[in-house]
Amino acid sequence: MHAYTPGEQPEGSGWIKLNTNENPYPPSPRVAAALKQEIGKNGARLRLYPNPSSRPLRDALAKFHGVSTDWILAGNGSDDILNLLMRVFAGPDRPAGMTTPSYSLYPVLAALQSAPLVKIAFKKTFALDVARIAQCRANIFFLTSPNAPSGVGFPTAVIAQIAQKFPGILVVDEAYAAFAAENAAALVTKFPRLVITRTFSKSHSLAGLRIGYAVANPEIISLLDRARDSYNLDRLAQAAALASLQDQNYFRDTLARILRTRESFLAKIRALGWFAHPSQANFVLLEPKNARGDSGPAVAQNLFAFLKDRRILVRYFGKHPLTHAALRVTIGTDADMAVLANALDLWLNPATPP
Ligand code: PMP
Repeated sequence: MHAYTPGEQPEGSGWIKLNTNENPYPPSPRVAAALKQEIGKNGARLRLYPNPSSRPLRDALAKFHGVSTDWILAGNGSDDILNLLMRVFAGPDRPAGMTTPSYSLYPVLAALQSAPLVKIAFKKTFALDVARIAQCRANIFFLTSPNAPSGVGFPTAVIAQIAQKFPGILVVDEAYAAFAAENAAALVTKFPRLVITRTFSKSHSLAGLRIGYAVANPEIISLLDRARDSYNLDRLAQAAALASLQDQNYFRDTLARILRTRESFLAKIRALGWFAHPSQANFVLLEPKNARGDSGPAVAQNLFAFLKDRRILVRYFGKHPLTHAALRVTIGTDADMAVLANALDLWLNPATPP
């Protein structure tokens, strides 16, 4: 098996970091205050183990989703939840399924369980093939919605059709759903084999603290709960997530800013005559064309290197034919995107030396 390859976390300052879909804004100011309080005087509270089942956070998440607390499992990032799902529901004679391309962690987790992996390939439109997923014979299927790395969103009605027809456990990985026009969270109470996973990493600016959660029928939650580490969320992560969840105004404000920036960046890309998928996430997958109008893997790699030389980091996924001519760009602040836009202009029209 191969380890998951995370996006680069460069050393040193001065980088415009648009490669791992982190939020460009800090978390709610309530988070820093809550962390200070949670640490206690001279760090005294760090002596104590955290709440073992993240109960106060799960209570708040249950309220947020309009379900009771036994419908929620908290995890050390949504990666922890995805890992638990794979451990509980996949194995040598229980295949896992996924669409390709999507999140490259799923194959790693499936390999760890020696679970065969069923891959349903997207076509360029990234439309979901309901019948193929329904008949794929996987015991558990991972659907990233909105899709990563394309950013394409899926209608909730189509996800409901899959939940209806797929006979196994359907996981809708909603890591980016906060940036989308619709999501499938309300479907969990209608479909007993549906699991929604969410994260505080992107929409709540807390990637550094590792908080994710699942919403699903209590029967599923109880199975996952038996397999998790006893203290899978530390004290600071629980306090931060709770504080950030309680500041909905701040969340809405930063979200609205990111969506505005996303649309103006997409307009810039299209004005250059480049293809980009419509995005329902906090990133855009774009296909650069050079000054001669050529596109392809060499052009994408050339632009990637040009940007990296200028300390602008984006992501290149060279292994898949639907992404190898493209770059995935996380939406930063307006200022970040203005620097990027200038760099793109410079790449297309290198300034003639004086
Ligand atoms: N799902 C998808 C589709 C992702 O892109 C990511 C981030 N790499 C995750 C889940 C995991 O997020 P986290 O573990 O930070 O909650």
